[in-house]
Order: sequence, then C-alpha cells, then structure tokens
Amino acid sequence: MSGSEAGRRPCHGFLLSADRVIIGHRGKVLEEAAVLVVGEKLAWVGHTAALPEAYRSVRQVPLPGCTLLPGLIEGHAHLCLDGGTAPFDRFGTAGPEEVVGCAAEALRRMARAGVTTVRDMGAPAFLAEAFQHGTVLGEHPGPRVLHAGVPVTSPGGHCAVMGGEAADAGRALALIDANRRSGADWTKLMVTGGFLSSAASSPYRTQFPQHLLDSAVRTSHARAMKVAAHAHGVEGVRAAVAAGVDTVEHCTWMDEGGFRVDAALISEMSDRGTVVSVTVNSRARAATGRLPWHERRSQLAQLHTSGVPLIAGTDCGIGNTPHDDLPASLDAYIDFGMSPIEVIEAATGTNARLLGLAPQTGTLTPGGCADILAVHGDPLESLAHLTDVACVLVRGRPVVEPSPQPSSATALSWEYLCQ
Ligand SMILES: [Zn+2]
Repeated sequence: MSGSEAGRRPCHGFLLSADRVIIGHRGKVLEEAAVLVVGEKLAWVGHTAALPEAYRSVRQVPLPGCTLLPGLIEGHAHLCLDGGTAPFDRFGTAGPEEVVGCAAEALRRMARAGVTTVRDMGAPAFLAEAFQHGTVLGEHPGPRVLHAGVPVTSPGGHCAVMGGEAADAGRALALIDANRRSGADWTKLMVTGGFLSSAASSPYRTQFPQHLLDSAVRTSHARAMKVAAHAHGVEGVRAAVAAGVDTVEHCTWMDEGGFRVDAALISEMSDRGTVVSVTVNSRARAATGRLPWHERRSQLAQLHTSGVPLIAGTDCGIGNTPHDDLPASLDAYIDFGMSPIEVIEAATGTNARLLGLAPQTGTLTPGGCADILAVHGDPLESLAHLTDVACVLVRGRPVVEPSPQPSSATALSWEYLCQ
C-alpha cells in the first residue's frame, strides 16, 4: 500500500513517543514523552513512563532523537498563487482548473512541511467554493483551510484581479454576503493598496472611506466572520483599527518618505486587542530593499513589547515565497525578541487562539485534533530543526509517515500502525 492510499483511512490507537513533546501553550515541554492518537483525536499526552495501563497494548512508535509539536498554522497564505517568480502573471492567464490545481499542490507542500492549518487571505470565487466543498484535495489528507473568499478592494485596487471590486458600501456588503455563502470565515478588506497593484492604488493611502470600512466590519461580525485588513501605510492602519478589524495584515508603517511608526496607535491596538499578522518569510532577514530587515525587526519588536498579539505567517504564494516556507521563516522571529518556545507557540497555540481555532488545534492536548509534527532534533536549541521533518499527521491521518532516523530508507509502514 502506498503512503497516499494508506492516508485515505484513519488510523486507530497508536502511541508516538519522542525525546520531548512541546505542548504549544504556556511554555510547557515534557521530556521523554508521548502522545496517543485514536482516530482523529489525541486521547492521551504525557510522560512515556506514565502511560496508563489501559493503553499499554497499543502499537508503539518510538521516534528517538525527535521532538513532537503541534502541527504548524500558516496565518497568511494565497493558495491561488504559485509562489514562483511571477505568480500574478500566471494567475491572470490561468483557467479555474489550473488555479485549483495550484491550490492543491500548495496544500500538499504545506502538509509535507508540517503545516496542518492555513488561513487563505484572498482567492477567486471558484476557489472559495472548492474550499467549501472540500474538492481541492478530495479524499487526500491536507491542512484545514480557513479562508476569506474574494478580497474586497476598490475599483482597480490591490488584488482586483481576484474579482472583488467594490465602488460603494452596497457592493462591499454584497461581496461579504457572497463570501459567506462560499463558507468564508473571514472578510479581507484591502484597506490600502499594495505593491503589486496598479498605479491607481497606493500602498500608502486608504482605498475606502471610513463609513464603508465601518459597515463592512459591522456586517462581517454580524455574520460571525472575522475581518482582516490589508494595510501598509499608517493612515490605512489607523482607519482599519478605528473600524474595529480583528487583524491588520503587514502593518509596515510605510509612507512615501520612509516609515512612520505611530506609538500612540500601537498602544491603542494593544488596548483593543487588534492583532498584527507579521507576513515574514524566510528571505525577510536578508531584505535590504523597500522593507529592510533592520526596520521591520524594529517595528515588530515594538509591537511585540507593546503587547500587540502577532499572527505568524509568510504571505506564501506571492513572488518567491513557496507555500512550505513557514518552518524556515520562524528563526527570524528571534530577531524581534521572541524566545524559541515563544516562536513555536506563535506558529501553533497562539495562532490557533488568534484565529479562533483553540482548543480544536494548535496544542497537543487530550481531546484536541491529532495535528502533529515530529522533527528530528530539538527545535528549542535551534529552530532550524523545524525543517527536518520526521512525521506529520493531519487529524490523525498520515501525510509524512514516521521515520525513526533522518536517513532511514524504510519508513515505518502506516499499514503496520493501523493493524
Ligand atoms: Zn497577502
């Protein structure tokens, strides 16, 4: 039986044990510990030596030298873009089948890297419907998808190519309702322009009047949808916060003259609980162009020390940002003041809480989903170990089968586990 065939059915009752288990919450780490997977759920988590008598007969899979942690959560992705050198060009000429195929490949890559949940931040309507009907990957196991459907933008504005132009509040509300019908959990408002937009749309300027933003947020919340605001310039960040959005994406404080970080606004965001989605990819540290790392790390340090909650994510799908970039991106978070355990929790338990998914996923807790990443080595010593995948389970289903050694040619068969 091939891995993909085995992955179509759930596995019942086996114990993964490792050198340590990172719970994903409040800095908790168990040495010499294990998790018991039954169906889609975690049935037990604890020190291996304390395994209750009732579970001693289950199949045991020791992963010596490994660390178990919750599956990672990518907080900002575009599954319709291919992450290559010219993703918007390709999107502009692709038909629906090709775009859905791009999303399927993105989800497969993410799952293999240990990403078990993704928040998509902008897609065309047909892809939102494919998310809703679960037809992107079909029967194959893959990350759970939260999504915003079609982003709401101004005529000719940022990401207008996805089909969400709104010239007035009535059109914006109609788009929000259509997204809701496609199962969107979020509304994405392009509050400012972006760097991939037409010249008519500036990243430094607000694209919508305040009353439109206010009513879009009110309407979304009334429909149990959270609101993510794409905003670069300070004026757009201020408008988004005033409208009561849940998350500000990017929040780069850019204007024509450079950067204008607003300490009073940061303090207001902290008081209101407005979340910032950092969109840092694995190349961010080397950036010297319009958003140099020394500037970005200082902005993020200020947000972090001011108590603004941060969502971990990469904006994968955009140019030169592959969909499995999240694990390699996380080491950069050390530069803005997080410890390794805080970084891991940012991409697991904290992301789950900020995205409204706790306690379903994001931590290794009995009763929660068996979304599990096992890596070789100790990521608390070096976050680089996060890219050395030993095993991935998505809701108890295997994506990467357990391999006890980094170079092991014969991974343990899932069929064996499921006997
Ligand atoms: Zn984005």
